[in-house]
This record gives sequence, C-alpha cells and structure tokens, in this order.
Amino acid sequence: MSQRQDQSQRQGQKPLAEIPVTALKGVGAKLAETLAKLHISSLQDLLFHLPARYQDRTRVVPLAGLRPGMDAVIEGEVRAADVVLGRRRSLAVRLQDSSGSVTLRFFHFTAAQKNRLAPGTRIRCYGEARRGSAGIELYHPETEILGEEISPTADTLTPVYPLTEGLGQGRLRALIGQGLDWLAGNNVTELLPAELLPRSLQIPLAGALMYLHQPPADADLPQMAEGQHPSQQRLALEELLAHHLSLLELRRSTSRVSAPALTPNAALERDFLARLPFAPTNAQKRVGKEIADDLTRSVPMMRLLQGDVGSGKTLVAARAALQAIGAGYQCAVMAPTEILAEQHRINFCGWLEPLGITVAWLTGSMKVSERRAQLAAIATGDAQLVVGTHALFQDGVEFHRLALVIIDEQHRFGVRQRLQLREKGAASGENDSVEGAARTQPHQLIMTATPIPRTLAMSAFADLDCSVIDELPPGRQPINTVAISSERRYEVMERVQNAVREGRQAYWVCTLIEESETLQAQAAESTAEELADTLDGVRVALVHGRMKPDAKELVMKAFKAGDVDLLVATTVIEVGVDVPNASLMIIENPERLGLAQLHQLRGRVGRGSIASHCVLMYTTPLSANGRARLQALRSHADGFAIAEEDLRLRGPGEILGTRQTGEIQHRIADLQRDAHLLPLVQKIAADPRLDHRARAALVRRWLHNKPRFAEA
Ligand code: ADP
Ligand code: MG
Repeated sequence: MSQRQDQSQRQGQKPLAEIPVTALKGVGAKLAETLAKLHISSLQDLLFHLPARYQDRTRVVPLAGLRPGMDAVIEGEVRAADVVLGRRRSLAVRLQDSSGSVTLRFFHFTAAQKNRLAPGTRIRCYGEARRGSAGIELYHPETEILGEEISPTADTLTPVYPLTEGLGQGRLRALIGQGLDWLAGNNVTELLPAELLPRSLQIPLAGALMYLHQPPADADLPQMAEGQHPSQQRLALEELLAHHLSLLELRRSTSRVSAPALTPNAALERDFLARLPFAPTNAQKRVGKEIADDLTRSVPMMRLLQGDVGSGKTLVAARAALQAIGAGYQCAVMAPTEILAEQHRINFCGWLEPLGITVAWLTGSMKVSERRAQLAAIATGDAQLVVGTHALFQDGVEFHRLALVIIDEQHRFGVRQRLQLREKGAASGENDSVEGAARTQPHQLIMTATPIPRTLAMSAFADLDCSVIDELPPGRQPINTVAISSERRYEVMERVQNAVREGRQAYWVCTLIEESETLQAQAAESTAEELADTLDGVRVALVHGRMKPDAKELVMKAFKAGDVDLLVATTVIEVGVDVPNASLMIIENPERLGLAQLHQLRGRVGRGSIASHCVLMYTTPLSANGRARLQALRSHADGFAIAEEDLRLRGPGEILGTRQTGEIQHRIADLQRDAHLLPLVQKIAADPRLDHRARAALVRRWLHNKPRFAEA
C-alpha cells in the first residue's frame, strides 16, 4: 500500500481543515515552509488558494489567427534562429505553420537556448502575441520541443496561481491536483447554512472548488475572467462575508478599550494657522472638525481619511497631531516608504518646529548610533512627534505617551497589516492607567488617496469611520490627458526628449498584468535600456519592485534632486511621491490597469505650477470597454467620479486586465466587481442563524489570522 493511500485511510473523514499539507505526496518540512508563506498549512488552505486567472491551453491557434494582446498556444517549425543586433541585441526565431509565420523574440538567451531552437525543430509555444517591428511577435514565450508522437494539449483551462519565491506554477498545480483528489473522500466543511443563500448560490463547496481549479475546456473564459461564474460568486460571497465578520468583530473589540481624551489647545492651534502660507479649504476644515471631535473622546478613534491625490491630507494630519501634542501626548506618523516618510518629515518639521515641537525620525536604513539617539528621544518624550516607516512599530521602539497614530497611504497595507498595526499600537500605547483598568489604545487616523465609493467603503472598512476631503486647494493646473496608440511610440519618445530639453522631468510606467514581479521588472528593464539607447542626452533611471529598498530610495532621491530626467518604473511609484518638476507621465498599456490605479499614477504629475501631461499609450486593438475607461480618465479629474465610473464600466465583456489591484487583496472577490453581493453579505452577517462557531471558522478559512472570537 502506498504511503499516500495509507495516510488517506488513516485520516478517514477528517475535515480538510485538520489535515496538514504534509499529508500530500512529496511535501516535506521544507516545502511546507514555502507553502506557509502563502498561508497554506492545511489541505483546506491549499484548496482555497484560488487561481488569479486562467489560460486557454486547450487548443492550438493557427499562426495566421494571432492578434496582438492574445495569449495563445501555437505550434510550428523553426525556419530561422538569428541573433539580431538592432537597438537591442536579441534572438529572433522565425516560426512557421501552414497558415503563416511569426517571430519569437528573446532579449535574454543562452547559447544552449539558441541551439535548442535550431531550424527544422518543431516546437509548441505559449505566450502573448504583440505587434513587433516585423509583424506579430511573441516575447520570451514558454517553449516546448515537440517529438514524434503527438503531445496532447491541456483538457481543462490552465489555472494561474499566485506564487511565492521557491514555488513554481507547475509544482503548485500538481499539489492542488493532489488536494482535489482528497476532496472526493473528505469533507470541506460547509459553513453557510443553505437557507441563508439565494437559490443561484446554493452550490456545494466541493463542486465549486473543483470547477475553479480545473474549469472544463468549454468553460466560458470571458465569464470566468469577470468572476461571474456561479462557483466564483459562491466563494466570493463567502470571502466578503468573512472579511466583513472580522471587521465587525474588530469594531466591537475596539469599543471595549479606552483612549486618552485629547482636549484641543486653542492657543497652539491659532499659532499654527497663523503661520500657514494658505488657508485650509472648507473640506479640510470640515474633516478636521470630525477628527478633532473624535480625539476629545475616551474611546479610540478609528477613522479613515479619504482625499484625492493632492487634496491636502497632510495638513489635516498635522492638525490632528497638534491636538495630541497640545494635550501633552505623542503622535506617530507612518508612511509606507522611506521617501514618503521623508517628505512628511520635511513638511511636519516646517510646520511644527517653529511652535517649539521636536520631531523625531525613524527608518529601517538608519545608522545604529543615530537610531539610538532617536529611540531615546521617543522613549523619554523629548520628541513629541515621530515620523517614520514600518520601523516605527518594530520591537525596541518604546513611546513615552503615544496617543495618536497616523498612517498614510493605507491602501498599501491590507486589512491584516491594519490589524497588526493596531495591536502594535496597543502594545506601545499610553499605559499608565491603574492596574485592572481597561486597556488603552492610541487613536488612529488612516489616510488614503484611493477613492472608494461609499457603499464599498462601508463594507471594506466596516471597522472604521470615514471622512472625505472632496475639494482640491485652489489654483491647481489640470493635467492634460491624451490616449495614443503604442504604434506611435516614437512620437511619444520624442515628446519625452523635448520635455527633458526644456528642463522638465518625466515618468515612464511599464505595466504587465502578471503575478510575477520578476517579469514586471524584466519588462521595465528592457524599456529602460531601449529608452536610454534611443533618447539623446536623457538621463534614464529605473525603479521596480525587485530592487532592494535602499537601491530604490537612491533612485527616487536622484530623481527628486533632478539628477535623473526620466524615471522608468513599474507601478511601485504609485503612491504619494512628490516631484513638482515632473510634468510628463507616460503609462504603457493603461488598458490593463484599473481606473483608480491609473488615477493614482497620473497624480504623480501636476504637482507644480507648470502645465502637466499624461500620455496613455495603449495597445491596439482596444476593446470598447477599454476605450470607455480611458475616455473616463481623460474626461474626469476627480478621483471619486472616476471610481464611480469604474464601478459602472466593470460590466461583463472585459476579458483581460481588470484584476483590481485595489485596497484589499482578496483571493477571489473583487470589491468593486462584486459590490452587488454586499447587501447580501450584510444581511447574512446580521442573521442569528449563522452561529458563533461558523463565524469564527469563516474568518479562519479566509483570513488566516487567528479568529478574534472567544471560543464559547
Ligand atoms: P495629499 O492629500 O495628496 O497627501 P498633500 O497633503 O501632499 O496632498 O498636499 C498637496 C499640496 O497642496 C501640498 O503642496 C500642500 O502644501 C498644498 N496644500 C494643502 N492644503 C492647501 C490649501 N488649503 N491651500 C493651498 N495649498 C494647499
Ligand atoms: Mg499624501
């Protein structure tokens, strides 16, 4: 008897949540550790690790049938394989079938690869077709040499899973395949009573999981890509419910702790406003009052401050900080990157130091001696304001009397991080209360420029109150946005050249809809090389997610200092970077990004007094929906209007490229796309027929974090 069968029998009818992944064939301690990075430790976890998208490898597309933007399996005979020394050295492989021919292009290749693809060899490839200099091309396709016998194509759609370092697609697919075998004999616990579900969603979980991991070849791919298949909707509902339940519980637990009541200091406030070079906008005043009122209460404020890019959230934050400091407490301001933290430090120092307030500074890259000095100032209370990155909440940082935590650009942190921060905040909070008294926690203000329509905000941030800055400071220059086909790439490059000649700086953003940061980085690298080669006298630099934080910082600093003219980047520059001299933004393949993200990216320009431009360089052909979305971006400058438009346009029909990179990482649900499920989510959450145990198990299943429910 094989070990596997043996174990399978021994485990009997155990729920899959209780069977560890090590029960699978070939999963030892090391692989288990790798899987744990994806939060997979039980077979249930494995089966709820859902595909991010699908590929159709079930049929071979004739070469003449390829269109730019298509992902396809192709087959043919290699006619030529030559190293081409153009602008960039590449290996060009001419592939032919009975219908026509295409070029496979490799920018990185070894001699062995070239030899493998010798003329006469029959190969099968998978990749994305694009328009190249010599007709249709595939860059870096996956290739497989075909032998004598016919190798079958896939008989189900191929799932593409989110991965982690050290675990490839093939390996994970095989593991999940094994997991699906277990699904037959064991049970994945149904947690939602069927009577709470509408008839269309009364689908057994096991069936839904099976379908999503291995959709049949005739599955409706556009429908799947839109997440509209009933199996997807069934799981999306459960996931949204789990998030909602955990947030509700969080809110309940927060109301049981206390926070320092911060009385406003009118004199300090007056001083601050008198020194300000401008008057706060009405919106800034209104949300300022909402926050000020919260802070005077002795329960922790949990407030989300939403305001479009450039709406002046920093000023609102500074006034909140002032209230804490004026009442004799400390305030911590945290930003997701060092460059943003430094921007805040400069702003806050400029505003608060003249009032006699000391600002400390804490980041991960600090020298030990400097860090020690800052830590001392924080611990003694000599510093009343502390600005920094995540380093603020690491072990060894002790606050004297922390009363307020401000977190900027929160959409970079998921709910899980928010929970962690809250706990760290509590641990380092002001705790001089008498023994036995309620736990205290600092107030929290979370700021984001990602506009979230109100209904969604209520669900995604059910644990938070919401304030919105719906007005920009006066005198902003609108950004001129144009959409240009990538066939006119050279014109766009010329435009960059001209802007640089006039002393301006520019961004060039490369996008790829890939889970793999490595591929994203490669694409950006190729583009940076190409631009550096082509553009005369333009100092080009590159920044992407695979770079070490220090290296990234260095590039961003050089760009800020004007030592770099053109910054080629992946979407890592999305958040809050302020370089007023940058007035031109090029976004490649904008049709692949969500509108909210595009709006964020565009917000990197238009920060100075010069007129700014944003070029959306799309790939043809553009779907009707893609066209409508780019048009929405061109005609709206307001992030909230764009968010609403995004919601409206996300109907079925868009096949690729709408994966939302939004505020919360869901496994299958998409807050905007699945917004119609939210009323049902709220109804189920309020239904007593969903018992305590099921609630806790749902949260455990979908959120991985320890349940916040007492097991009673
Ligand atoms: P964001 O909301 O994107 O974080 P910032 O706080 O960085 O925006 O503000 C953007 C710019 O607007 C800053 O240069 C800031 O000094 C300026 N600003 C903020 N409030 C006002 C105001 N009421 N009037 C004029 N300029 C303002
Ligand atoms: Mg900001």
